[in-house]
Amino acid sequence: MNASGLSADQVKLQARARELASGPVAKRAAEVDRTEQYPWDNVELLKDAKLIGMTIPTQYGGQGKGWLDAVLAIEALSAACAVTGRIAVETNMGAISAVMAYGSEEQKKMCADMVLSGDKPAICITEPDAGSDANGMTTRADKKGNRYLINGRKHWITGGGVSRLHLIFAKVYDEKGEFEGIGGFLAIRDETKGLKITKREPTMGLRGIPEAVIDFEDMDVPPSALVIPPRGLKKGFADLMTAYNSQRVGAATVALGIAEGAYQLALDWSEKRYQFGRPINEFQGLQWKLADMSIKLSAARALVYNAARSGEGGFPDMLMAAQAKVFTSESAIQVVNEALQFFGARGYSRELPLERMVRDVRMFTIGGGTAEVLRNVVAGALLKKKLPQTRDGWAKD
Ligand SMILES: Cc1cc2nc3c(=O)[nH]c(=O)nc-3n(C[C@H](O)[C@H](O)[C@H](O)COP(=O)(O)OP(=O)(O)OC[C@H]3O[C@@H](n4cnc5c(N)ncnc54)[C@H](O)[C@@H]3O)c2cc1C
Repeated sequence: MNASGLSADQVKLQARARELASGPVAKRAAEVDRTEQYPWDNVELLKDAKLIGMTIPTQYGGQGKGWLDAVLAIEALSAACAVTGRIAVETNMGAISAVMAYGSEEQKKMCADMVLSGDKPAICITEPDAGSDANGMTTRADKKGNRYLINGRKHWITGGGVSRLHLIFAKVYDEKGEFEGIGGFLAIRDETKGLKITKREPTMGLRGIPEAVIDFEDMDVPPSALVIPPRGLKKGFADLMTAYNSQRVGAATVALGIAEGAYQLALDWSEKRYQFGRPINEFQGLQWKLADMSIKLSAARALVYNAARSGEGGFPDMLMAAQAKVFTSESAIQVVNEALQFFGARGYSRELPLERMVRDVRMFTIGGGTAEVLRNVVAGALLKKKLPQTRDGWAKD
């Protein structure tokens, strides 16, 4: 263990990820943003460095690493390129972690192989009329004989159009049309009939990964495509959502990494840039900004690392993951914005990475649960009450 509580292996892993980040990943970051092209070359680099599928258990070809290991890699990569950091999130957390926890043997083998070969799975929950209120989804899976037919529309699906593996959430109805619960179905783009990518969203930042609208038109899957957690379909959505706590920690980590990258640039520049005959970091106005930025980063890092550690042998604690994501995403936006300010006009130029970082970091109070909704999660856990948000839902199950 070192001073930050990391093991010798974790320090090595961090060093490996930092080397990759400051070398080839940093070199490509601006181009990835400008061209809006998914960085397949970086996927190969991540594969070679064994930073993809690290959390997959060894019997399925992974390394059986913990969430904190993944966090260390994601943090380092995101400081250079948030898109590459997000690829590391989604190949170690989220959909793949749900399948590895709750999938059948066959599902685990198939998904592990796909991820380890470089596929970033897509997780499909959000719909045009069901965002924060995910339970309000209308995508449905109707049982017809020995098949399910899935119909509906998802939007803002990260990786839509580049991901092959999809975990799609739908309301499940039996042969008689009775509602059974919300289930997660596995489908593969270009193999599963009826899965169509119909639009790419024009995004503000994180432009190297497409955000897509996906339509399901009589998408036909066998029951073996359904990922069924131990408590069955009725409680299945809640169980599958516990896996999402890992994704939330991952999202917080990307925001943390971007902010650390921006802070470092500001710190270095503050020594190099002279005005009034002295480095700008000799002005107390900027010293206090640097102090505030570093305090926010240290606090955010502690929350993220602790949330990751809370998931040892399972998934991160819901309260800790929510606290980490709210604080880190909001602090990161402030830190990156301040970092740009250090550069004056130069910070506003597309020739420096600051403006990209401002655009990239803005997402993290929205995707994966908004800061407002996660405050509801935190409050619910503190008060030990269910806090349904519907007009008639208070205090009901
Ligand atoms: C870049 C990006 C990537 C994404 N990737 C994915 C993905 O891969 N898969 C996926 O399924 N989804 C994805 N999303 C969607 C994301 O999860 C949703 O945007 C998010 O859950 C919010 O839903 P919404 O956009 O419909 O906002 P809405 O739910 O319409 O919310 C609008 C506003 O109202 C607030 N609000 C809503 N309900 C409450 C409440 N009860 N209390 C207080 N405030 C409330 C919200 O916080 C927000 O400020 C992504 C989004 C983005 C931006």
